[in-house]
Amino acid sequence: MKTDIVVIGAGISGLVASSLLAKRGFDVVLIEKEPFVGGYVRSFKRDGFIFDAACSFVGGVKEGEELNLIIRELNGEEKIKWLPLRSIRNILPDLSIDLDTWDFEDYIHRLIKLFPLEKASLLSYLKLIEKTGIELKRIRDISIIKRLFFPLFFPKLMKLFRATHGQVLNRFFKDEKLKLALSCLPVTLPPSKLSFLFVATLTSKVIAKGVYYPKGGMKSISEYFEKRLKNFAGKILTSHEVTNISLDKDIFKVKTKNEKTIFSRSVISAINPWQLSKILNYPFGLSLKKLTPSLSAFLVYLGIDSKLLSSDIPSFSYIRSDIGPEEEYRLNLSGNIAKKPTVIVNIPSLLDKKIAPEGKAILRIMTIVPYHYKKGWGEKEKEEIKKRVIDRVKEKLLPSIFDRIELSIVATPLTLERYTYNQDGAIYGLCATPNQIGPKRPSNKTKIDGLFLAGHYTRPAHGIVGAALSGKFAANLAQRWLKR
Ligand SMILES: Cc1cc2nc3c(=O)[nH]c(=O)nc-3n(C[C@H](O)[C@H](O)[C@H](O)COP(=O)(O)OP(=O)(O)OC[C@H]3O[C@@H](n4cnc5c(N)ncnc54)[C@H](O)[C@@H]3O)c2cc1C
Repeated sequence: MKTDIVVIGAGISGLVASSLLAKRGFDVVLIEKEPFVGGYVRSFKRDGFIFDAACSFVGGVKEGEELNLIIRELNGEEKIKWLPLRSIRNILPDLSIDLDTWDFEDYIHRLIKLFPLEKASLLSYLKLIEKTGIELKRIRDISIIKRLFFPLFFPKLMKLFRATHGQVLNRFFKDEKLKLALSCLPVTLPPSKLSFLFVATLTSKVIAKGVYYPKGGMKSISEYFEKRLKNFAGKILTSHEVTNISLDKDIFKVKTKNEKTIFSRSVISAINPWQLSKILNYPFGLSLKKLTPSLSAFLVYLGIDSKLLSSDIPSFSYIRSDIGPEEEYRLNLSGNIAKKPTVIVNIPSLLDKKIAPEGKAILRIMTIVPYHYKKGWGEKEKEEIKKRVIDRVKEKLLPSIFDRIELSIVATPLTLERYTYNQDGAIYGLCATPNQIGPKRPSNKTKIDGLFLAGHYTRPAHGIVGAALSGKFAANLAQRWLKR
């Protein structure tokens, strides 16, 4: 088989890259090792419940925002219906506060009511997030002149590039409870390691503009791109694992486990770069030793009786550990898990009733965990951590949860790794430390002409929107290469 371009990996980044290139008139073959597309952006059905394997919400879908622009380029009849996820309940050890996903300013004002003495600092913190957000937005349209005089035009970004969120929080606040309330994004790093620019980007671009759930579950997003790709005559080979890539006279030879060989002028690798280094016969210019993947996660998917849910139950809650994020992270790094870990609980059937059978609801609990736990993720370890995370929900959200569970499934880092080949089951590709954000992330271009990288280990960022954008960046580079 011969083609213009092969895209390896049908996660969101590979789906975006391949559908854009097919729309732009190129011959595209998307290769995926699983029998289905989506990577982390997929859902699975069990006993009538449609569970989302990994993701729970997405931003960037409003008119003119990143994902919206990609979808607009692909146009077409079929649409994704976005259901708004209005608030996130932040449950701290002795305080519970709702964050309106459209209004970070309102969150700050709620905090001012709870911490009146910190009013001035909270307003300054808000201003800093807003100003940084404005500079980050302007960076999109940066001219060559501005690029040369970057420090003059982007003073905040220059100053904050190396800062962690912890450093910024410590500069403004003393109260540990308040600092925890301001660490309200689902991340795998504690404030002392997490990039402040990453927090400012997510807060100003995503949280303050609303987040959404796709009707029908996360699979609706990947199915949309799959349909668009097919519509533009792109080909998809599912159940085909790429096992070798070689290059002969400017033509790539891509081999799959089931003995299929595809000859291609260009390749976009939308898979874990450690994986790529095993299947590619040449170095491609990335020093993998310098990169740090994010931590992994343990997930419990529950089918429950919907009578269990009171009318004021939020669809998304963030229950924080009482030992604090720094200690919890230290435990994770040493291969342990807090006795009362931080958990994220989401109930997507509150947003879309149809994903659960009549009278039932879906509840999903996630906690960040190390890849290596005790002697491995055997049945005993799975039961132990499952009980630990359900206990957290029982204690803070749903006291009678154990009586109403009708179905339960767990996923460990090994499950995430097995389905997607992410490095040690990394959930966010590279972790968002100051030296792994924006231009510090691996470029979408490689040292090998015609080979490009997409996915959540590359620029610009992780998450559905970050990975989708990486797919668009790689598609733009490949298009230029193919038309040269
Ligand atoms: C538990 C969890 C919760 C998350 N929650 C959110 C959220 O709420 N919102 C959000 O925006 N982001 C969330 N994320 C992050 C987000 O899902 C990812 O950053 C993003 O989806 C990554 O997309 P990707 O295309 O880079 O790769 P992946 O989704 O990892 O896809 C890679 C694909 O490549 C395939 N592949 C690998 N090797 C080969 C090979 N050799 N041959 C063929 N195919 C191969 C895999 O099977 C897979 O389909 C979450 C992630 C996890 C795990």
